[in-house]
Amino acid sequence: MRLRNIAGSREVIADSKYTVKEPETKKGLWKKEVFGNDNPIRIEIGMGKGRFLMDLAELNPNVNYVGIEKYSSVLLRAIQKQEQRQLPNVIFIRMDAENITDVFAPSEVDRIYLNFSDPWPKDRHAKRRLPSREFLGRYDKILKPDGVVEFKTDNKDLFDFALEEVEPAGWNLDAVTRDLHNDPVMNEGNVMTEYEEKFSSLGNPIYKYIVSRKGK
Ligand code: SAM
Repeated sequence: MRLRNIAGSREVIADSKYTVKEPETKKGLWKKEVFGNDNPIRIEIGMGKGRFLMDLAELNPNVNYVGIEKYSSVLLRAIQKQEQRQLPNVIFIRMDAENITDVFAPSEVDRIYLNFSDPWPKDRHAKRRLPSREFLGRYDKILKPDGVVEFKTDNKDLFDFALEEVEPAGWNLDAVTRDLHNDPVMNEGNVMTEYEEKFSSLGNPIYKYIVSRKGK
């Protein structure tokens, strides 16, 4: 998702109490300094306008949520929503997730959500795909030993690619479905993202996996 540049969005982000500036300075300190509690931290990478994360935060007040988004124009929309909802357990970072290991310490994160990640269809861009083995290697460095990555998409090629990356990256496939909304077990408690609502309303099946390094 890339909205047209919105004048002043960088300034709004810089001034917002809902974004963390210089997030590298919070590495290892997210619970203590940012949230002021000992609750688990779950992050969404590529959160877009952030509704999924905010809905989860409302449902789970004892979990801390960090939304990560690369583009200011998109993050601005999430900030505007958070200004209305004022959820105490949600904070945002504007950054490229390539640098995620500079921002979170080993085992600092409990769960990672990837929703409708950009497909980067050209082979030479495979390393930029958020479920690639390169990114799984980064997630390995910040996730708790029993932490999980949950990935949803309607893009078959991206999902097939993501499945092929699991084993070479040293992860386990804990659960998988190629039709989430018709899978009673995996769909239980499902919170839809903005893209999920849009693409499932067009009749597209939603793919989902959950991966971990449990037992590795
Ligand atoms: N997750 C939302 C949803 O499901 O409705 C938005 C999906 S949108 C297709 C993907 C988002 O990921 C875009 O807003 C894009 O800017 C962001 N994104 C892509 N690569 C990223 C990266 N390396 N770091 C941070 N955000 C990224």
